[in-house]
Amino acid sequence: VERSERDAMVETQIRARGIRDGRVLDAMREVPRHRFVSQHLRTQAHQDRPLSIGMGQTISQPYIVALMTEALRPQAAHRVLEVGTGSGYQTAVLARLVSHVDSVERIPELADAARRVLQELGVTNVTLHLGDGSCGLQTAGPFDGILVTAGSPEVPRPLMEQLRVGGRLVVPVGDAFHQTLTTVVREPTGFRTHGGIGCVFVPLIGAHGWEERKTGYE
Ligand code: SAM
Repeated sequence: VERSERDAMVETQIRARGIRDGRVLDAMREVPRHRFVSQHLRTQAHQDRPLSIGMGQTISQPYIVALMTEALRPQAAHRVLEVGTGSGYQTAVLARLVSHVDSVERIPELADAARRVLQELGVTNVTLHLGDGSCGLQTAGPFDGILVTAGSPEVPRPLMEQLRVGGRLVVPVGDAFHQTLTTVVREPTGFRTHGGIGCVFVPLIGAHGWEERKTGYE
């Protein structure tokens, strides 16, 4: 059942909207998206929208996952950094396409849940980290690709610095309500930046993102 739902999801939501990278399409047919949402949302797992994963966070819309993954131009030998593990779904898609994925999440409960699912699915080329991914991951870089799955007020400088020459950084940049999917390519002499479609992500909270919002009671 899920396999045919995923095939339909890829055809109608992803291929029909212009995603052409065959490896990306295959990865999205293979990764069992329903395993990354809670039991009561499983029947909705392949719908054309983001879903709640608890802690005020979301698993991104399938098309957005595909678009960001394609923008990274993933190759089999690449090492990739993901900022915002969330459910671990995007992590699992990347893990099928590149040699190794480091992924950083700031909320322990989400990192734990993602670790459990990835383990159950036998995904071994992933290292999950707890912390502020807006600073990147000094020890593991430089990376061939960096994917940020939360909205940032600007392109986080440390992430640019952790790109290999030729490497690509994909990050939603804008205010809290609307961002532009932005790609930064590191060239031998500097950085080339170009904008893509509009999108809406939960905020990147950290030293190079947004300040955590206070409740007003403390
Ligand atoms: N890629 C995820 C998936 O497939 O489920 C979607 C992630 S959700 C849209 C964004 C995630 O980024 C949230 O889990 C949030 O806690 C996390 N996040 C926000 N700011 C962060 C930061 N500075 N470092 C690491 N994770 C962060």
